[in-house]
Amino acid sequence: MILIVDDAPENIISLKKVLEKNGFEVDTASSGEEALKKILKKSYVLIILDVQMPGMDGFEVAETISGYSRAKETAIIFLSAASANLNLITRGYSSGGLDYISKPVDMNILLLKVKTFYRIYEQSRALNEMQKTLREEIEFRKEAERKKDEFISIASHELKTPMTSIKGYIQLLERSLDKNDIETIRTRLHKVQNQVEKLNLLIADLLDISKIESGKLKFNKKYFCFDHLFGHITEIMQQSNPQIKIIKKGHDVGNVYGDEMRIEQVMVNFITNAIKYSPDTEEIHLSAMMQGDDVYFSVRDFGIGMSEEHQQKIFDKFYRIEETSERFQGLGIGLYICREIIERHQGTVGVHSKPGEGSEFYFTIPANPEGKNQ
Ligand code: ADP
Repeated sequence: MILIVDDAPENIISLKKVLEKNGFEVDTASSGEEALKKILKKSYVLIILDVQMPGMDGFEVAETISGYSRAKETAIIFLSAASANLNLITRGYSSGGLDYISKPVDMNILLLKVKTFYRIYEQSRALNEMQKTLREEIEFRKEAERKKDEFISIASHELKTPMTSIKGYIQLLERSLDKNDIETIRTRLHKVQNQVEKLNLLIADLLDISKIESGKLKFNKKYFCFDHLFGHITEIMQQSNPQIKIIKKGHDVGNVYGDEMRIEQVMVNFITNAIKYSPDTEEIHLSAMMQGDDVYFSVRDFGIGMSEEHQQKIFDKFYRIEETSERFQGLGIGLYICREIIERHQGTVGVHSKPGEGSEFYFTIPANPEGKNQ
């Protein structure tokens, strides 16, 4: 939009007419003071400013608006009988653009200048946009780099913890061996085994992440009995977590097409999280059933839960809820791997949760994807 500032109404009318005829949007002000008020409220690409006006003259207007952030990119064309004084105000006015036209105005020259300023304005806007996008991209890289560094440090710590325990138990084992204390040896061996299993799971997750990144996560899909898998997982999880009551609900599902081991991985991950993020609670509920053509599986806990904001993000890579990350150890990759596995089965994952009331994680996958015969 162009602002014409002139105290002579006949000048305004004729300039406005020509500019509007050439497709420009035009606003007008009949004094310097009125112009300043308008510039404070609206952004103009160009101001056509009469130098000689009663009250505030054109130079004073230009000097004042040079300090307005809104007018940072606004160009000014002075309508002046003389050009000598222009040097005075260019000091304070460094951005936008400045030019002048002698009176009486040659409309062709004015139009040419207006078009040039408009072109420059469009180009500088495009450049600014480009600069902004580039800056955002750089920030996004930087952010990815920071997350990766943070992940490496957490991962090393997570690997070191079971490793330190293993070292400790082995030293204790040596002592028990010297004493020939078979019972203690057996207990300590069992503890070493637990820690090795922890390490094993961590390394498997890390390997899965790198497979996902390189597009090498492979699936071995065939029909398997979902109910059998469900029963087996419930039994194993109950055995290894006797402190919690695992309640199994739902209906028979029958045969399902997919990679049984990978589906088991997702179910175990949901259950492990449900136990981990529900300290001081007594039970979790597992459920499976058919919903239309899909198998629906869910794990309900009564633990810490989470706000809506986090529910959108917890399936993202490396995402951990900051407020609770100190209290619970983890790498923030389990759910990301789960989502990848389920999506590679043409399914969906999700969570319903409320802070302090617990969470329900679920997935659905088509039991009989098209073209797969049992
Ligand atoms: P990890 O548990 O190793 O951090 P996950 O990818 O399994 O990684 O989970 C990502 C984040 O989601 C966790 O850090 C935790 O903040 C949150 N989360 C996962 N499961 C639950 C749950 N059952 N209840 C509350 N928060 C959970």
